[in-house]
Amino acid sequence: MILIRGGRVYDPAGDTDRPAIRDVLIENDVIVSITTPDADHETKQRVEAEAVRGVGQVIDARDTLVLPGFVNAHYHSYDTLAKGLIEDAPFDLWALQTQPAYYGRRSKAELRLRTLLGAMECLKGGITTVQDMCTLVPQDEETLDTIAAAYAEVGIRVVFALALRDLGDLDIAPFLPTDLSPAVRRAVTGSPRDAAEDLAFAEAQIRRLPSSGLWHWGVAASGPQRASDALLEGVSALSERYELPIFTHVYETRAQAAKARRIYGPHGGSMIRHMDAVGLLGPRTTLAHGVWIAPDEIATIARAGATVAHNPLSNMKLKSGVAPIRALKAEGVGLALGCDNCSCGDCQNMFQGLKMFCLLAGVADPEPTGVHALDAIEAATLGGARALGLGGVIGALAPGRQADISLVRLDTLAFTPFNSAARQLVFSETGAGVDTVLVGGRVVVRGGRLTMLDETAIRAEIEDVMPAFRLDFEGLRRTSLEAAPAFIEALRRLDKVDIGLERHLARR
Ligand SMILES: [Zn+2]
Repeated sequence: MILIRGGRVYDPAGDTDRPAIRDVLIENDVIVSITTPDADHETKQRVEAEAVRGVGQVIDARDTLVLPGFVNAHYHSYDTLAKGLIEDAPFDLWALQTQPAYYGRRSKAELRLRTLLGAMECLKGGITTVQDMCTLVPQDEETLDTIAAAYAEVGIRVVFALALRDLGDLDIAPFLPTDLSPAVRRAVTGSPRDAAEDLAFAEAQIRRLPSSGLWHWGVAASGPQRASDALLEGVSALSERYELPIFTHVYETRAQAAKARRIYGPHGGSMIRHMDAVGLLGPRTTLAHGVWIAPDEIATIARAGATVAHNPLSNMKLKSGVAPIRALKAEGVGLALGCDNCSCGDCQNMFQGLKMFCLLAGVADPEPTGVHALDAIEAATLGGARALGLGGVIGALAPGRQADISLVRLDTLAFTPFNSAARQLVFSETGAGVDTVLVGGRVVVRGGRLTMLDETAIRAEIEDVMPAFRLDFEGLRRTSLEAAPAFIEALRRLDKVDIGLERHLARR
């Protein structure tokens, strides 16, 4: 057993400024009790005696805030090695440099290390679960097994989903000039895939590596506009058959909204109503981004009981616009929070996301938004857990829930003076104060250091695979530079397309 003794245990229904001091008792992977320090003396003494013999463990949590582990509800593990390589690129030019298909087959060492790197950064920042929307290149069992083994090695909880798409065109393709160079044309067109084959592969993997322990499955379409109806219906059917959450990118950019107006004519140009028609919109669905959702679509999402995973850092870095968080909250849409790719936020840090969740909601008008620190924390914990189909399993500290827990130090300048645990967590903490992290009852970070693997050794191994990665990246950067004038021309054209709403602010 593990006893986490004397920490301030965060309870959203309790005092969130000065959470009560409690002891948390864990047996195997589950929280068994949360009690006042003077309660259940016998059991606690027994755990202490066991700890002396090295059987159990007592974690002194004085001067720490004990939190449910964060849920990174939208993340891609495939480009963690591209951290710091891209700047000032609008979404579509960024996509030209980061999509796995452009990179082709990677070495097994690179697959393992990139998966470890993203997970290590998450764990050290108190993220205990990631939703990895991953693209396998090549799409085979060996590639998947290498990634799954890396997740087991690092000890993070993952809800893994293969991001399927059968239409190759980039979102911006219809708005580009026609005189593109062959290299840019090839990249823009991509290559179509066979929906039935990809769905069969996904189903075979769900059956071959069933959800167990820290490994969970979801299903994903990369984006409704990147998939045929057959693929979207197939994803929905898989979700039904195996009771799995559905993830998809929705309305991330103005180009996607403009394209929706063109291709979803029968549904009034609405991607949301199209999703509804193919069975992709329901309580199991999470829409990543949702920047360019129209007000009437927000009501449809709310009625369907779907979640929006907000990715403020990526939306800002890729110039995608500002998601209508205030309106989504007001309509009662479930909200989750993600850090998205490492190449479009350059970190997996939920604290940056928490702060932006609140601040970005306030850039549109001068009134109070009603989007507060407690909302941000809920999105990063229970909201994310619900989105990932684990609403009764993680996301809160309570008996019966999985012991996915982080301890954040309160004896730091971020919490001095100690006015409000919740507000200082969101607005003052950077992640530097994350001291201890447990996933499924296993201590994976202690004293700010990873326990499952040797960080120094992994960093050295990463340097070994980087020359090959950088070489391929340079090739893609050249294509992107070549494509830039045409893409910027397309963005200017798009700007003139009336899509009935605006998500870029303070322009003129
Ligand atoms: Zn994404």
